[in-house]
Amino acid sequence: MPELPEVETVRRTLEKEVLGKTIKEVVLYRAKNVSTDPDEFVSSLKGKTILSLGRKGKWLRFHLSEDLVILSHLRMEGKYFFYATPSPIGKHDILRFDFTDGTSLVYNDTRKFGRLALYSETTYMVAPSYKELGPEPWDMDVKTFHLGLSQKKGPVKEALLDQTLMCGLGNIYADETLFASHIHPLYPASKLDGVEAETLLTNARRILKEALYEGGSTIRSYHPGLGIDGKMQSKLLVYGRKDEDCPLCGHKLFKIEVGGRGTTYCPRCQHRPDYPYVLAVTGPIHSGKSTVAHYFESKGFRLFNADEVAKGAYLDPMVRAKVIPAFGERSYKGKKPNIPFLRKAIAASNENKLLINSIIHPYVFHKAEEFILSQEKKQPVLLDVPLLVDAGMEALCDDILLVESSLQKRIERLQALGQDEKKMVEINKGYPLLKTEKKATYVLKNDDSIEVLFEKLDQILKDINRG
Ligand SMILES: [Zn+2]
Repeated sequence: MPELPEVETVRRTLEKEVLGKTIKEVVLYRAKNVSTDPDEFVSSLKGKTILSLGRKGKWLRFHLSEDLVILSHLRMEGKYFFYATPSPIGKHDILRFDFTDGTSLVYNDTRKFGRLALYSETTYMVAPSYKELGPEPWDMDVKTFHLGLSQKKGPVKEALLDQTLMCGLGNIYADETLFASHIHPLYPASKLDGVEAETLLTNARRILKEALYEGGSTIRSYHPGLGIDGKMQSKLLVYGRKDEDCPLCGHKLFKIEVGGRGTTYCPRCQHRPDYPYVLAVTGPIHSGKSTVAHYFESKGFRLFNADEVAKGAYLDPMVRAKVIPAFGERSYKGKKPNIPFLRKAIAASNENKLLINSIIHPYVFHKAEEFILSQEKKQPVLLDVPLLVDAGMEALCDDILLVESSLQKRIERLQALGQDEKKMVEINKGYPLLKTEKKATYVLKNDDSIEVLFEKLDQILKDINRG
């Protein structure tokens, strides 16, 4: 999605191409993209001359003769194409301005989310959405910004994307700004102090200016138009670089979701000041995960067992209030969950499994967060989370330790305990091993003796203490 630098690059390019041109005809292919009256849009613009091009945040403005103003928001994929000679209609063309000199400007939008609207010089400032825009970073003062952040309920990343607080930052430059400021994307906006607010604002300005100088970023999801190639993408330090090494410290970059938006950051450089060190241990069943958990407990880590918390979740009235509408009255017997019934329902379909996860995972996440926040900052925490990636719990930790073991070894261990291995093989079928391997900062192969395992763990602990 184009952000302030990309939209400004489009504006500057358009300025060179269409300034002073008079519209002979407006051909509208898709009226839905015009949010004011489409007929009026087409008829009013005939014969008008483009006098100047403006921009606020991610909105483009065409100022025309007779005080008319076109507001244009490119949203996900909107692009302008200028043609010096008549051109055939493109597949995703929304609108074409034919100029009196034989040239034309086409608005094209593959995703069709872009918006155009016609206003006047006296009304565009109060157009829906546009009127809510906060100042751009260079027009924002630290005090107002800090006050705005302090009134936000969610994480700082969401606050940076909120165009009513400050406009212009989108997903790319919000991630870059947070990384440059050493602030964790999930850190509550309201907890930021004046110095942190100033750091954020300074970095937002600097990064946006650099991006403007480079002509924006040309990335997979957005290309500004023919002949416009931004160069900022090669200067992005975290965006689009998940699972790569942090350019500052070498730690693996994590990608999580914040308010539904993919967010890349370095858990070490952007460690939360209110969190102790948090290590997550994860892995398939019978890989030796619990032995590993006990090892860290013996070294002073406080243990949070996600499986146990998930089992207890059903007794929580809030969880119950979500499970019953989703799975029916039979899913509970009074205040207690009907476990056999629920097990059967979850096993019946993948949708049911996802549905129950969407209720239980946020509960476990919240409990883990509470547990972490209740610790002293010097107290390391161990999260024992079998399905770390599915539950989104990597957002809470500094490191991820994946414990792996060959199938043969796991079967041997079970047989030694006199247990049936078929069930274990069945349960582990859906384990997202590859996905977890990519995210893990430590991968521990546990196929040898317990002595070898402890030697490997000593090494990992040493490494953790160094970081
Ligand atoms: Zn780092």
